[in-house]
Amino acid sequence: MKRITIHYVTHYVLGFALCLVGLTVLLAVLWKAWPNVFASQDVLSALEVYLWADEFDFGFYRLKLMHLVMMGAGAIVFGVLVLAVRRQVFYAGEHVLLQCPFCKNQWKVSRAKAQVECPHCLQFVQPTLVKTRK
Ligand SMILES: [Zn+2]
Repeated sequence: MKRITIHYVTHYVLGFALCLVGLTVLLAVLWKAWPNVFASQDVLSALEVYLWADEFDFGFYRLKLMHLVMMGAGAIVFGVLVLAVRRQVFYAGEHVLLQCPFCKNQWKVSRAKAQVECPHCLQFVQPTLVKTRK
């Protein structure tokens, strides 16, 4: 269970961090662009033109806002992918052997789960992963 929990948390945190960074970038760009485009009749094309025209100055490097938007969107997509992979890692293996932390009975399931009802003592438990078999 411990190993799976680490995978779970790492991927979870990484995925959400990427999504958060992406969203922050997108919001920051939108925040900067909005006063320049909201009065326009066609906001979307005005936004596109503005994003290609304006640049964000990092001090050592200038980046077009459109590229920032792409990177932000890319970070979100990658974050979602990481979250999806996390799920695959979590459910890897066709059969896993789980152990109840209370009654110490073991049982086989097709998918590892963080929370499951123990079939022996019928308590809702966080089972220990004993073995993963392909
Ligand atoms: Zn039990």
